[in-house]
Amino acid sequence: MDISVVIPLYNEEESLPELHRRLGEVLPGIGSYEIIFVDDGSTDGSLKVLERLFAEDPRVRVHSFRRNCGKSAALAAGFEKAEGEYVVTMDADLQDDPAEIPSLIAKLDECDLVSGWKFPRRDPLSKRIPSKVINWLTAKLTGVNIHDMNCGLKAYKNEVVKGLSLYGEQHRFIPALVHASGFKVGEVKVHHHPRKFGHTKFGAKRFMEGIFDLLTVLFITRYIKKPLHFFGIPGLVLLLAGGCTLAYLAIGWLMGRWIGGRPLFTLAVLLVILGIQFISTGLLGEMLTSLSYTKHEDGVERELSWQKTDKK
Ligand code: UDP
Ligand code: MG
Repeated sequence: MDISVVIPLYNEEESLPELHRRLGEVLPGIGSYEIIFVDDGSTDGSLKVLERLFAEDPRVRVHSFRRNCGKSAALAAGFEKAEGEYVVTMDADLQDDPAEIPSLIAKLDECDLVSGWKFPRRDPLSKRIPSKVINWLTAKLTGVNIHDMNCGLKAYKNEVVKGLSLYGEQHRFIPALVHASGFKVGEVKVHHHPRKFGHTKFGAKRFMEGIFDLLTVLFITRYIKKPLHFFGIPGLVLLLAGGCTLAYLAIGWLMGRWIGGRPLFTLAVLLVILGIQFISTGLLGEMLTSLSYTKHEDGVERELSWQKTDKK
């Protein structure tokens, strides 16, 4: 199997027949393929439409959640099933153009994940501006220099998706996660279309949540194996500041100045307690990490032939 197309969908009944038809025009020209529709607990007629497509086309596979679990969970389920050498993901709402798939796959010669860059992006300004800010911030903080982290249209080598464990809303930061595992990430400009049917499934609160998700991804990619490095530095700074303040008050006390009611005393105690809390949290994190750590979970290992010959 050459290509697996994974399509997460939630209440997209109107778009599905056209999407399937257009994929059928593009994919045969590239190689053998399967289309994996992951129905994320749709409450409209999407599943009925998928059953029809499944009956008509042997290359269609359908996976369905009993309830809405989110786009990350839907992608993860599709990734688990994908058998193709290359895996392409796209949204079901016809905003992503199937005609771009060949150029994404061609670019996989140079990298392991190719992310689409919606250019120009056909979404309202209220969505484009915050998204630009989050993309810029994410690129700066994670060191992945691409313009559009959260484009639905992406192409992967199969080993990349098998090493990804997505949950929550992490689909927004897939390139950062993949990059942190040591894979090479690239991008290609793709056409983007306005939504034709239905409405967006992510409201304005996505941007507030986006900040939390970014924090999680930063923590996961940088500090998951060394949480004390994350919590320890602010902890030490607070402890040191508190300690110095207490020492200053103690010297004053030795010289006969009463410290009981001074605001500075309250502040010093607060700083010391906070510092100890930060450091304890880091140590608890280290305990969790050491309990759950297994050597192979990084997904960064590769069998190299020279390693094998070396051992003989
Ligand atoms: N989607 C999903 N589960 C959800 C929300 C969205 O599978 O809980 C799918 C949705 O059907 C679409 C894709 O994810 O195929 C992108 O969603 P949407 O078009 O609403 O996002 P936007 O384009 O507004 O970013
Ligand atoms: Mg959309």
